[in-house]
Amino acid sequence: MNVNSIGVIGAGIMGSGIAQALAQSNFDVILIDVDRAILKRAECRIRQGIRGEMLLKRKFAPSGSAEVLRRIEFSEDLQALEKADYVIENVVEKWETKRDLLRRVDDICPATCIFAANTSAIPITQIASATKREPQVIGIHFMNPVPVKPTVELIRGRRTSELTIRTTEDLLSRMGKQWVLVNDSPGFVSNRVLMLAVNEAICLVHEGVAPAEAVDKIFRECFGHTMGPLATADLIGLDTVQLSIEVLSQYFGGDKYTACPLLKEMVADGRLGRKTGRGFYEYEGNDEKHPDI
Ligand code: NAD
Repeated sequence: MNVNSIGVIGAGIMGSGIAQALAQSNFDVILIDVDRAILKRAECRIRQGIRGEMLLKRKFAPSGSAEVLRRIEFSEDLQALEKADYVIENVVEKWETKRDLLRRVDDICPATCIFAANTSAIPITQIASATKREPQVIGIHFMNPVPVKPTVELIRGRRTSELTIRTTEDLLSRMGKQWVLVNDSPGFVSNRVLMLAVNEAICLVHEGVAPAEAVDKIFRECFGHTMGPLATADLIGLDTVQLSIEVLSQYFGGDKYTACPLLKEMVADGRLGRKTGRGFYEYEGNDEKHPDI
C-alpha cells in the first residue's frame, strides 16, 4: 500500500516528535491539535528539534529546517485528515478521549487509511473497537525523543491484518526505525515493566530512602542504564506516567499498579517534568541541569 500523506493527531511531546521524524523522511504530514497556540508551540519544538539534529548529525543543509517544516500542515480541523493514507494518534492517555476522537476520525478518513495508536498502555484491540476498521488498527509505541530513538515497539491487536503490519513496517523502514513486534497486552512489554519500576523509584523518594539523584545514579552507574527511572519519568511527563499506571491498574487490579502518593501530589502541583520545567529535576528551556539527561 502506498503511503505518502500521514495525519498525526496530538501535537504534544510525542506528536511533534513524530511529525518531525516523518517530515524529515519526506512524508507529507498533517499535524492536528485542538488550538492554534499548541500548534505554534509544536512548530517551535520541531524547529528546535531539527536544529538540534542538524548540529548532532550534520545531516541537513542550512535550508533544511524550512524545507522540513514546509512538509507539515498544522491544523485544528480533523477534516484535514480526509486525504490521509495513514493516521498516527497521540492524544492524552485517556480511553474516553481516544475513543471519541477515533470515532470521528473513522468517519472522515478514506476507507483504506490505517490507524496507528501511540498509546502507553491502552490495549490496541480496545482502541480498534472504537472504529469500524479493526483490521486496519495497529499500535506503534514510539520512544521519546522520537527523532533520535532508533527502535519502536510494534503491537499487533487481536484483529490487526497482515497488510496493516507490512504497511507499517514499510513506513517505519522509510523513517529509518527498527521495531520489535509483540502481541497485545495492557502496557505491552515496555510499560508493563517500566511503569512498575518508575512508580517504585518514586516511592523510594517519597519514603526518604534516597533522594532522586541517588536513585538515578544507582541505575546509571551500577546497572549501566543511560538514564535513571526518575529522569525517565521527567522525560515522559509525570501526568502521562500517572495516567498509564491508572490504565494498568484498571486491567490488572490488586495493589500491583497503585500510583505513589508523591506522583499524584507532583501532578496536582503541575510538576510534570521537562514539559513544565520542573519535576524531579529542574529544566531551563532545553538545557537540563541534571547530568542524567
Ligand atoms: P502531551 O500531553 O504532551 O500531548 C497530548 C496532546 O494531545 C496535547 O497537545 C493535547 O492538546 C492533544 N489533544 C488532546 N485531545 C485532543 C483531541 N481530541 N484532538 C486533538 N488533539 C488532542 O502527551 P504526549 O506525551 O505527547 O503523549 C501522547 C500519547 O503518547 C499518550 O497516549 C501517551 O501515553 C503516549 N506516549 C507518550 C510517551 C512519552 O514519553 N511522553 C511515549 C510513548 C507514548
